[in-house]
Amino acid sequence: MRKRKILLVNPWIEDFAAYDFWLKPVGLLYVGSFLKSIGIEVELIDLMNRYDPELPLYTRVPKDKFYGTGKFPHMEIKKPEILDFVPRKYKRYGMPEELFRKRLREIGKDVSAVFVTSTLTYWYPGYFDTIRVLKEELSVPIVLGGFFARNQPHVAKKSGAYVFTKTDLRYLPRFLNELLGWDIPDTEIDWFTDLSPAYELYNRVGYVVLLTTLGCPYRCTYCIAHRNWEVMKFKDPDVVVGEIEKFSELLSVKDIVFFDDAILINKERHFKVILRKILEKNLHKQLRFHLPNGIHARLLDQETADLLFEANFKTIKLGYETSGKLQIATGGKVRDEDIVRASEILHRAGYTREEVMAYIMVNLPEQTTEDVKNAIDVCASIDIDFSVNEFTPIVGTDIWIDLVNKGKLTGLEDPLLLNNTVLPYWWGNMTYEQIHEVKEYAKQKKIELGWKKDGNKII
Ligand code: SF4
Repeated sequence: MRKRKILLVNPWIEDFAAYDFWLKPVGLLYVGSFLKSIGIEVELIDLMNRYDPELPLYTRVPKDKFYGTGKFPHMEIKKPEILDFVPRKYKRYGMPEELFRKRLREIGKDVSAVFVTSTLTYWYPGYFDTIRVLKEELSVPIVLGGFFARNQPHVAKKSGAYVFTKTDLRYLPRFLNELLGWDIPDTEIDWFTDLSPAYELYNRVGYVVLLTTLGCPYRCTYCIAHRNWEVMKFKDPDVVVGEIEKFSELLSVKDIVFFDDAILINKERHFKVILRKILEKNLHKQLRFHLPNGIHARLLDQETADLLFEANFKTIKLGYETSGKLQIATGGKVRDEDIVRASEILHRAGYTREEVMAYIMVNLPEQTTEDVKNAIDVCASIDIDFSVNEFTPIVGTDIWIDLVNKGKLTGLEDPLLLNNTVLPYWWGNMTYEQIHEVKEYAKQKKIELGWKKDGNKII
């Protein structure tokens, strides 16, 4: 019988800009673990791993910026026609095609199928190009899964791959049996609580991204997280700490990143327990930790902040999003006073502006430029850094449904047009000039406060 072996591929990103802010295909790594648990051999090609040992032989790899983050190697490519009106260069980020093809020839010979993952919907040209190369090099079924495949299955099918749209991996055995004529029995394994992401598939990475929870109980109108997972799941704190120990040692990394959507929910029984265990085991003496996914300011208390500081958490991002009436209208997860209180707590714990940053969104429907500027002013007044990010309407969110109902979107837009870089060029919400004005306001504010010198950080 032919060996049962599946190749996992983290595809290219194609966009106007991309940066490695701790991007790892954690979902795909869990798929790897799940497949192993049902007796299938697994290989991985991560086209976005800046730490791939062979990469420098094929391209210039930009140096790390901080804590393992950095620019991806990239090349300019032809813009998809639908984006011709955007006056910016389009690029492919990640491993050069030549190295990808070489890898496929080395390890692709005896695979039975390839699983390609996906995240942002407007990155689909990168997924499609990855699949095109896979089809040229291998004659086995290719399966596309991940967020884009679930959110836009009709577009995903145009890749020519089979599309897997489930989040519950217990559907995988049956899917594979149908696809490949196998006879894998059903399993009751819960991929999240029973398994760990298969980081052992890497030779080298710069950091490890982990999830300690799945889901979020909030219902923000611009967010899809609460629709992805019906109930929140918590991983046993001992298992989380075991993962930290195992993978930091195995891959010799110093930076551990948590990408949970709502890590502070149930914190007494979950996150605080993890933090105390990190301290008990002295992991904070060798490792740095990061929370880049916007924690809930309202749920932060002094004890958590003190534990975070003691446990060597170096990056704390707060989800602020906007000031003004939209705070309540979009779900009420945070108010100005929560951000102010959280910053006081964090400063008291010992944090400085170097480590604490609030995310602010611009171009939300019905948001004014004043809402954004006020949010910037609030952050400036409490001495926390801020980043202004452009909103993108995710298909299936409340805000997207509302925009379609009001005729502000047709609901049939090509995902490429919903790229936040592209929206200001065609969508009649905020104009390109208004967004530019707000970004300039943010930049000038940082210069005025001495936080930046002509766009360069000086602290
Ligand atoms: S934005 Fe954050 S708080 Fe709101 S639903 Fe999404 S993950 Fe939850």
